[in-house]
Amino acid sequence: MEKLSNPKETIQVLQKYEFQFKKKFGQNFLIDPHVLDKIVDAAQITKEDFVLEIGPGIGTLTQYLCEHAKQVLAVEIDAKLIPILKETLAPYDNVEVLHGDILKQDIQQIADTYNEGKPIKVVANLPYYITTPIIMELFESHVPLANVTVMVQKEVADRMKAEPGTKDYGALSLAVQYYAKPYIAAFVPPNCFMPRPNVGSAVIRLDCLSRVPVEVQDEKLMFRLIRASFNQRRKTLQNGIANSPELDYTKEEAAKAIEQAGFDVRIRGEKLGLSEFAKLADELEKMRE
Ligand code: SAM
Repeated sequence: MEKLSNPKETIQVLQKYEFQFKKKFGQNFLIDPHVLDKIVDAAQITKEDFVLEIGPGIGTLTQYLCEHAKQVLAVEIDAKLIPILKETLAPYDNVEVLHGDILKQDIQQIADTYNEGKPIKVVANLPYYITTPIIMELFESHVPLANVTVMVQKEVADRMKAEPGTKDYGALSLAVQYYAKPYIAAFVPPNCFMPRPNVGSAVIRLDCLSRVPVEVQDEKLMFRLIRASFNQRRKTLQNGIANSPELDYTKEEAAKAIEQAGFDVRIRGEKLGLSEFAKLADELEKMRE
């Protein structure tokens, strides 16, 4: 049997099982061998690695992962794909398929069971509608991660990598950069997928940091503050904080904390980097003590 990266093979499998693509699961399957090589290269997979794949589809990327990794666990939500995966992954003895929603899995337990609790690699051509929740869930659960290599919408990759003061900079940039160093490995046009998505895509690798890059007393407060400042992008930070449903500070308290952190009271959140948000979160925290 040819690999599924050969589009003819993919079409044959889809026809044999009369598979219908489901938009609600973000199903766009890869059909380009160069892109598959790029993903495996970017993820720096070796025969020592356990890889968690999110959303294997019919197993196109999974076949590549099996060839390069020690072991692969692929979690797929769509029940219709499970019998297909049984057939397309039959030649490999280092893969298991789990039927379920990735957002409902205990990933710490997966790392413990399959990799003795050591840092795992995560690889996925992600369903775009839940890219951010999946990535944030991985980071916030503090599961041991070596790196996370994912295909995402190009705009999302740009936002993850963005620096303060740029148009793409926002809460996602800060959240990703608090946990990881992002590296864009490739841009991928719509014709590399079946069916073709309406947007361009990019492969991004997030190298997880062994220590957080800034010290802050209350991490959760800092992220509430970050969300508050980007929810109302056009407003000053002072107004963003006072209007946030997640924070309980008056406009005057917000102004005082901003000044005590050493910033101009009219400043907007989009100008601040991680260490500045940490400083301001500590000032807000002090105010509550
Ligand atoms: N990996 C395949 C490829 O590259 O050709 C398929 C990628 S497709 C963009 C996304 C896959 O994720 C689909 O197979 C979809 O059914 C699956 N998926 C969507 N939501 C999921 C979830 N919450 N948990 C696990 N898999 C999910």
